[in-house]
Amino acid sequence: MSLKKERRPEPYPASLVVESADHACSDGWRKRRFLLTHPGLLPRERTLEIEAPVDLAPDEELIWGTAVCTILGPFADFLEASIEFRGTVDASLAETHRLWAKAYQRLHGRPGLVGLKPSRYEKFHPPSGRLVASTFTGGIDSWFTLLTHNEDGCSPRIGAALFIHGLDSDHRSTEVREGLETRLGSLARAMGVQPMFLATNFRRDFARVSWSHRSHGACIAGMAMLLSERIHTLLLPSSAPLDALRPWGFHPLTDQRASNGLLRVEQDGWEYARYEKTVRVARSDAALAGLRVCYTKDGLRNCGRCEKCIRTKIQLAIEGALDRCPSLGPLDLKTVARMSLPEDWQPDTYEELRRLCAERNDLREVARAIGHAVRWRWFNVGVRRLLGRPV
Ligand SMILES: [Zn+2]
Repeated sequence: MSLKKERRPEPYPASLVVESADHACSDGWRKRRFLLTHPGLLPRERTLEIEAPVDLAPDEELIWGTAVCTILGPFADFLEASIEFRGTVDASLAETHRLWAKAYQRLHGRPGLVGLKPSRYEKFHPPSGRLVASTFTGGIDSWFTLLTHNEDGCSPRIGAALFIHGLDSDHRSTEVREGLETRLGSLARAMGVQPMFLATNFRRDFARVSWSHRSHGACIAGMAMLLSERIHTLLLPSSAPLDALRPWGFHPLTDQRASNGLLRVEQDGWEYARYEKTVRVARSDAALAGLRVCYTKDGLRNCGRCEKCIRTKIQLAIEGALDRCPSLGPLDLKTVARMSLPEDWQPDTYEELRRLCAERNDLREVARAIGHAVRWRWFNVGVRRLLGRPV
């Protein structure tokens, strides 16, 4: 059978049933639970939890329903099921969900489409005065989008910065949540942007569908829909440039297809490679002071030793900006040389960084350490596996 025939244009006949369970308010947050039913679910996958601050939580059921159905799209596809939602969604989903599902099927070569059967459709009537939001984790991509839109005059101006607890941080830890809200909130306010926080258990408890490869664009877009009484557009700072795009859970074309009557969704900055973004970020003292790139521990602090921390340090050193970035600390040559580089994109990226370092007298030792790490990459990976450390 040809691939074309295997990609059926019909919705999956099986159903993932989703219904609202309960909600509770505590410590200024409104927490809602949605119960899932399907024979293939693990126990932890039976409950989707979503939290919004009481002052931002929407009253309209259609907003919650639209958000939940968007978040669960890739997970329903993983189960090869359509979503049967026992509640209300926005009327626009009758058309837009099908477009998203078709795009998702095409990008990932899936055997069917995620259909959507809600109990009812209602039309959302957006209030006036809504803002443009961007997700804001404090990393290079986030800062690049915020700086280019709000300092360099790129349109539109960003009015709100969204951070979602539980995606790259521990949403169950009060210390981490309060720490991140203090840190990212003050950075956003200093840039004239209103910080907004949400939380979910989706990434932790629905990990059978790959976060990186399949689900993160839809999850973030769906979560942002909870704020659609306050924002009309969500900018998603891109994680890969146009010439490096491949089937991935965060992709400008499929993420744009998550747009609906509540929210327009658009990736931003895919014209630029990460090193080009780093050049812009390195010119901002505010960004360097608050840079947050590392998710290896609790998400509150940069570890300074993981691949992403080291790569960012090398890029900032090339721009002559590392000593202005106290949250990352200095480069340690032994740590660079012992890096584990198991991903297929890493040798090319590090060869380019090695070349740029070799051109500078003060970074020749760093160039040598990078060369060592690339040559011994599989040895370093093996040593970590033997020691039981993360690769
Ligand atoms: Zn790190």
